[in-house]
Amino acid sequence: PTMAHSKALLVLENFIGGKFVPCSSYIDSYNPSTGDVYCRVPDSGKEEVEAAVKAAKDAFPIWSSKSPLERSQILNKLADLIEHDLEAFAQAESKDQGKTITFARTVDIPRAVHNFRFFASSILHHVTECTEMPTMGCVHYTSRAPVGVAGLISPWNLPLYLLTWKIAPAIACGNTVVAKPSEMTSVTAWMMCKLLEKAGVPPGVVNVVFGTGAKAGEALVCHPDVPLISFTGSTLTAQRITEKSAPHCKRLSLELGGKNPAIIFDDADLSQCIPTTVRSSFANQGEICLCTSRIFVQRGIYSEFLKSFVAEAKKWKTGNPSDPTIDVGALISKEHLEKVRNYVKRAQAEGARVLCGEGVDPLALPPVNQKGYFMLPTVIAEVKDESCCMQEEIFGPVTCVVAFDTEEEVIKRANGVKYGLAATVWSGNVGRVHRVAHRLQSGLVWTNCWLVRDLNLPFGGMKASGIGREGAKDSYEFFTEVKTITIKH
Ligand code: NAD
Repeated sequence: PTMAHSKALLVLENFIGGKFVPCSSYIDSYNPSTGDVYCRVPDSGKEEVEAAVKAAKDAFPIWSSKSPLERSQILNKLADLIEHDLEAFAQAESKDQGKTITFARTVDIPRAVHNFRFFASSILHHVTECTEMPTMGCVHYTSRAPVGVAGLISPWNLPLYLLTWKIAPAIACGNTVVAKPSEMTSVTAWMMCKLLEKAGVPPGVVNVVFGTGAKAGEALVCHPDVPLISFTGSTLTAQRITEKSAPHCKRLSLELGGKNPAIIFDDADLSQCIPTTVRSSFANQGEICLCTSRIFVQRGIYSEFLKSFVAEAKKWKTGNPSDPTIDVGALISKEHLEKVRNYVKRAQAEGARVLCGEGVDPLALPPVNQKGYFMLPTVIAEVKDESCCMQEEIFGPVTCVVAFDTEEEVIKRANGVKYGLAATVWSGNVGRVHRVAHRLQSGLVWTNCWLVRDLNLPFGGMKASGIGREGAKDSYEFFTEVKTITIKH
């Protein structure tokens, strides 16, 4: 029944209780670089989620009673298996998402492998707390246990990377999971399911239900037997998840959008700053929650910066994502491309200057990509802080550059948005760097670099960018329930 459509289409199936199971209806999935439907994704709903939650509940007693070492060995095996198929995973991720094959090969899939290895290791090193009360004859200690069935919901921009960043800590801690990847990028999650049995993951420990947020996602969020939801996606969806889960008092981890500033002081090393800030603006087509989209440059170097920045941005080649020399691939969907283009139009209507990219430079694409969702890296200047382009998350290859005069002023302007995920500060003055970093409302501050991550440390956003943190200790705490035990002797 699943093959009613053309044989050429890839048809995915849900993975429930260690088995692939077909679904009664399917959604079309597009190849963003050609505009063709190439894959059909299960359109799961309550019924499928119910089956997956049941399988996860059934698997919990056995999985949660395994030792951390046993679970660690299985996670390492899974990491090895994904790494062994790295090229196939990278090809699939690039085709499904529109990202360049180079990015998928060097960032997405290696990081997915690393996520499993990292939590396979970190799970072995946690210790609990203990205090004594000698005068009372008491000793207190804490004990941590997995929570149960974890619901994991992930977005389309870094599909396997972000999904495994949740699956790895959840199962390392002894939980079982029901994961729902984005309906637009489901293929690599499905490929990973094929490796679970070989890695030694028992049936029911990892279940993947494919489908839309409104149907499959909400069914998971509303399920009474799923006590915790780890979500990465937009702020709007997070509000909906919070509302829907409220009657159940669920534990939520929310990793949301950003409107990340780069602050460039006049003593910055521009030879490092410019290529890095071009990368932080346009990597993965600007579709990373950590991408820079507001660049504040101190007035004395503003003109020089702008000239070199635009020249550098123009070096980024847009085109067929499977060509390893290409820097910018296709955006995720036709609708998203339209939305991103509209921001540029609105900026122009408000009197801002578009210095390169959309509507300014010609975009030459190979014949096969004519219907793909491409857009050139676009730099906008002279845009007001109140403009939607400076306030809202665009999530595409668009960045705004504006001038500032003083440290005090730039901190205020950088903090003047609803988001607070990541910021970068460029300066050679160590005192200033510390001062500014402390005052920025941002979960992450990078100085003289971007996207350098140590997974041990907390990751997450302030304000509308999220609730909770992920990382070695933080994910461990989220995915376990702590108990304080007191013994009197
Ligand atoms: P989205 O919120 O539209 O969707 C994310 C996931 O939630 C998808 O799997 C979707 O199907 C599901 N979903 C949608 N509606 C739902 C509902 N009502 N109930 C349950 N699930 C639902 O986000 P997106 O467009 O896929 O991703 C882009 C967003 O993700 C951007 O805002 C970006 O900044 C953010 N993001 C944040 C981080 C981070 O770590 N902070 C990382 C990557 C992306």
